[in-house]
Amino acid sequence: MHRFDQTSTRATIDAVLAYAADRLSLDPVPLDAPRSPEELAEAAGRTVTPEGLGAAKALEVFAEVLAPACLSVDHPRYLSFIPCAPTKEAAAFDVVVGASSIYGGSWLEGAGAVHAENEALRWIADLAGLPPQAGGVFVPGGTIGNLSALVAARHSARARAVAAGSDVRPWRVATTYGAHSSIQSACDVMDAELVTVPMDEHWRLSAAALRATLEEHGAQTFFAVVATSGTTNFGVVDDLAAVAEVCAEYGVWFHVDGAYGGAGLAAPSVRHLYDGIEQADSFIVDPHKWLFAPFDCCALLYRDPALARAAHTQKASYLDILTEAPEWNPTDYSVGLTRRARGLPLWYSLATHGTQAYTDAVERTLQVAAYAEEEIGRRPYLEVLRERDLSVVVFRRVGWTPADYAVWSQRLLDEQVAFVVPTSHEGETVTRIAVVNPETSEEDIRVVLNSMT
Ligand SMILES: *Cc1c(COP(=O)(O)O)cnc(C)c1O
Repeated sequence: MHRFDQTSTRATIDAVLAYAADRLSLDPVPLDAPRSPEELAEAAGRTVTPEGLGAAKALEVFAEVLAPACLSVDHPRYLSFIPCAPTKEAAAFDVVVGASSIYGGSWLEGAGAVHAENEALRWIADLAGLPPQAGGVFVPGGTIGNLSALVAARHSARARAVAAGSDVRPWRVATTYGAHSSIQSACDVMDAELVTVPMDEHWRLSAAALRATLEEHGAQTFFAVVATSGTTNFGVVDDLAAVAEVCAEYGVWFHVDGAYGGAGLAAPSVRHLYDGIEQADSFIVDPHKWLFAPFDCCALLYRDPALARAAHTQKASYLDILTEAPEWNPTDYSVGLTRRARGLPLWYSLATHGTQAYTDAVERTLQVAAYAEEEIGRRPYLEVLRERDLSVVVFRRVGWTPADYAVWSQRLLDEQVAFVVPTSHEGETVTRIAVVNPETSEEDIRVVLNSMT
């Protein structure tokens, strides 16, 4: 007898896949909304029991109670934070990845998957202009991507310091105020010190300010400089070429955090903003943000992957057969060991549509963001805070208090119109829309702006 009752397995598979197919075909998708823990406990009842609910009942609870209590991040009017709008192909293929029991950590076990993931990584490396030997791995998100890159940076800086007979063990990271919170978090994990470089008048990390910071603290105490290619809040792209030059001058690792904005590399209309990225020692972009892949997927690339391998390869006798092999083991390039082949949904969609479709889709979102910015400019009751670089627009409703924003935002959600939340800038409550969904239209923007009169 099986340990699990598998008598109705085929029917269960059909029902689960049918549910997935239905969800993938919904147009429009429901926005949905969270519920309180008490409401959910009441509505779902006890779900984990000694006897089990049975497949049909468990799926019913998910479909009727749990799923509607989760926001659809792919809704065209989900415009908060950074949405996630996978292509149908990418989202559907995620089901295949789950069904295929692939171990994505080593070549020995997952060669075919790793090959495909590396093709997708190569496309991104080429967009950035990284050299042929560049490579890396898909990790769960920008946070782990940034941490992994910084661990590699520190490992290599310390090795160089030791080799040079220096007793300085570099422990600092330089970045700007606009950098993502995950950089601070990585520094906390690594017990490293984050030094904030003042931004220039365009809110960018500039060469002059960076040089001054490195000089003030001693350049040899830094193991990395983090530039952001698209800050999460405002979409500001740092002056990458200037930062690259300073990093080269001082011999400090140059990391570019493009978790949100890196996708703009695919768009000719904004590609010039990224000049200098080709000199990065490491670079991340989240395909689950603006490259139409489902959660959770961050592409982490290194100029010289050997430096990352030296920092990240786990050594254990049961792993020797893997770590001593000459092939590409993705797990050697980041924090973590076991890994899902999470780059495959992106790969499948890229292979299906071709890269031009990606360029077109990113350009389309930029067009809608530009429309939003113009439309805000045309309305006397609204004001843009900073001219847009990418697809994020931050603006204020003249005369509104924080409470007004809160009431408005809740009403939009309650009425299932849109999900747009307040944010703050220098103590002022404002709001922000991020367009990464090619299905978001000019009409969607008008609906949101009209709701603020
Ligand atoms: C979102 C974001 C991150 C963090 O990425 P996660 O995938 O959420 O872990 C890091 N940096 C920037 C610039 C981001 O926008």
